[in-house]
Amino acid sequence: MCSVDMKIENYSHLLDADLKKFCTFKIGGKAKHLFIVHSNNTLLNVCSFCNVHNIKYKIIGYGSNLLFDDRGYNGAIIVNKSENFIFRKNYLYCDAGVNLNALINASMNKNLSGLEFFAGIPSSVGGAIVNSLGAFNHQISDLVEEVICYKKSDPKRRIILSKTDCKFGYRTSTFKDDKFIITRVKLRLTLGEKSSILERMKNCLTKKSRTQPLDKYSAGSVFKRSTLIPAKIIDELGLKGKQIGGAKISNKHSGFIINKENATSIDVQNLIKYINDVVYQKYNQKFELEIEIVPYK
Ligand SMILES: Cc1cc2nc3c(=O)[nH]c(=O)nc-3n(C[C@H](O)[C@H](O)[C@H](O)COP(=O)(O)OP(=O)(O)OC[C@H]3O[C@@H](n4cnc5c(N)ncnc54)[C@H](O)[C@@H]3O)c2cc1C
Repeated sequence: MCSVDMKIENYSHLLDADLKKFCTFKIGGKAKHLFIVHSNNTLLNVCSFCNVHNIKYKIIGYGSNLLFDDRGYNGAIIVNKSENFIFRKNYLYCDAGVNLNALINASMNKNLSGLEFFAGIPSSVGGAIVNSLGAFNHQISDLVEEVICYKKSDPKRRIILSKTDCKFGYRTSTFKDDKFIITRVKLRLTLGEKSSILERMKNCLTKKSRTQPLDKYSAGSVFKRSTLIPAKIIDELGLKGKQIGGAKISNKHSGFIINKENATSIDVQNLIKYINDVVYQKYNQKFELEIEIVPYK
């Protein structure tokens, strides 16, 4: 399968696409196939196409939680750029490919509150739902009314999941096992005043940029919080600034690993292992990953 002979519109198809360009870490080899899709119909058609041709695929948004393999991805990466959204009263119906920050601004202009706490987080709506995104004690799941999705094994049958069906937890959901295609989400916002929404948004942005290396290539917090608070423990263990190859523990926030100078995926994984080995020696437990390592095969 090289030339795509399907009757699908509104997409681009690249062969041997450089994955560095499709993730915030700027790390990874080449994807055998990469599709950029601009509508939900195209997304579903490309998924069906991959099924028919037995091509493994992964849908991504901004790749802001992903660490690709240095060898790349032996299948199809589908970049979802389906970006329609519409407000109906205080409800927001949005495609999974919409940029969260675009929604934050649009909601604010409609005097609708709820999303402003997530300002500055690089995310599509789909990625936010899969990962149950949260910040400053606010979770996207608090706003979810329903999620429209399809099983990857059956991209023709539409499924509507309620918030309870989504089984949201701390940075997890029913979608985490990569068996679903999310196309659309219904969010419930609350009426507010534009000026106070803007103020909250600015406060969150200021706090975030003061404490996190937003200007560096990373995938956000590497580890999940548990009884152990990763950044605090990494600091205590004197690991801040530790570098392996081009991957470095951020001096600004020890929970972040940054791609300092042409880091490879292996550099990052070695640094993760190094941190976890040191943590294990002291605490007899390891940190669980918040970032997702995407294997080649
Ligand atoms: C600087 C920085 C700061 C961050 N701060 C935060 C923070 O404060 N809070 C927080 O929670 N996270 C944070 N993150 C992590 C990241 O932004 C979130 O996890 C985000 O929701 C990922 O969105 P994405 O669109 O980039 O998803 P991707 O990383 O592209 O994908 C994430 C997962 O979702 C799946 N997926 C994406 N779209 C679909 C779809 N339509 N259907 C099915 N599966 C899909 C992918 O296959 C993958 O498994 C931060 C990251 C960075 C780089």
